[in-house]
Amino acid sequence: PTEEYENLRRRIYSNTKELWYYVHHELTKVIQEDNKAEKVETILNQIAERKRSLLSDQQLFEELDGYHEWRQAEAANVSDLVQRRLHYLQNPPDCKDARKLICNLNKGCGFGCQLHHIVYCLIFAYATERTLILNSKGWRYNNKGWDYVFMPISDSCTTSAGEKVVQWPVTYDAKVVSLSFIDSISQKPKFLPLAIPKDLAHRITRFNGDPASWWIGQMLKYVLKPRQAMQKAINETIAKMNFKTPIVGVHIRRTDKVGTEAAFHHIHEYMAHVKDYYDQLELTRRVDVRRVYLATDDANVLEDARSKYPEYTFLGDPSIAKTAATHRRYTPLSLTGLLVDLHMLAMCDYLVCTFSSQVGRVAYEMMQTNRVDASNSFFSLDDIYYFGGQNSHDRIAVMPNDGAYQDISFQVGDLIGIAGNHWNGYGRGTNKRTNVNGLIPWYKTADHLVLYPFPEYKQVPM
Ligand code: GDP
Repeated sequence: PTEEYENLRRRIYSNTKELWYYVHHELTKVIQEDNKAEKVETILNQIAERKRSLLSDQQLFEELDGYHEWRQAEAANVSDLVQRRLHYLQNPPDCKDARKLICNLNKGCGFGCQLHHIVYCLIFAYATERTLILNSKGWRYNNKGWDYVFMPISDSCTTSAGEKVVQWPVTYDAKVVSLSFIDSISQKPKFLPLAIPKDLAHRITRFNGDPASWWIGQMLKYVLKPRQAMQKAINETIAKMNFKTPIVGVHIRRTDKVGTEAAFHHIHEYMAHVKDYYDQLELTRRVDVRRVYLATDDANVLEDARSKYPEYTFLGDPSIAKTAATHRRYTPLSLTGLLVDLHMLAMCDYLVCTFSSQVGRVAYEMMQTNRVDASNSFFSLDDIYYFGGQNSHDRIAVMPNDGAYQDISFQVGDLIGIAGNHWNGYGRGTNKRTNVNGLIPWYKTADHLVLYPFPEYKQVPM
């Protein structure tokens, strides 16, 4: 290792101790003092500054450790391998002979939800070595079908016309199987999210901090290729926006979502994280313009943000938001706007959103395909990352906890089924050994990756 690397490593260790010295000293003092509120606010600001400095150093760490280029090359190679395997699966030598999986694009929901439906089908196809056939005639975003907006998911095999179709689950190796929605399949297979392929897992984990969403992002990358007309429309809208880095993407999901599937979040809540991002960035570089790309389905948000935060420059298209805010959101026109928003959010350096929204999750998944590792480049105001209909998401205890602070007890190695993170140092979950549900100190647990023995597609060269 270089001298610079070693110095940085020591600096992080030392400054972590410094943070504690500071907190310990100040809080001990404040116990005895008057005007506590004011004093505590100063302390909080100081801690935030020290936290940003520590995180900033650790980011630098990654650049100095000598593996920066290796990670980039490896990420590109593994992505390329997955894409070639999908291409192989989707283009069998003889379509008539091929085993097939039929996915009906008739789910009555938004575009993010429909994309995730296709992702689920494609993972299912990959796991069962069946060519995926998309039935999309009469699709709500284009009556003529998916292929009129996006490139077909196969060059040579797009129909199962004339073949006998059997509904999943099948008791014998039927040639053509049709799949229902993830929420309604009985006997949920273990290869569904958040599982990742065992043969690639140890490669992915070496360059990416969240392999499950990376894997899902790869499915999106394969299917989401706009046709020329759509791409042109997207490019033209983007060209008008003067997109430049650094930039933070903010997705604000309101209208029908609020009160039914998610809570209302004020613009301040999003902007606090945008500010934190820029304050940290400014520790190592000069930032002339604090840019924010704002995507939303609330027609008033953009104007509101501009008037409340004049020190930020907001990019965004009010007409896209307006379409998204009304019943017109499920029309072909709205699709262009949403694709622009998704594309832009995924190109941002950092994303602030609510993962209760599939739009927010798709943006993050796309971000995961745009760079080596986006797992530290977002903040969700509500849910942790998930895939709708997923199998149990567990964390594994890496330190024991005695459950003395209104939290639950666990031993090293216990699996804890996760309900969510409260973003206060604690999450909620159920210890699967003891069946006790309650609060868990997040730092004593690590994500438990599910590795599934997917087919290895040996016919496709590594
Ligand atoms: P969810 O309901 O947020 O989980 O996601 P869905 O994609 O299933 O449905 C929401 C729909 O609202 C989207 O498909 C869009 O039509 C619209 N929408 C929500 N947020 C945005 C946004 O930021 N930009 C645009 N253009 N449309 C949005």
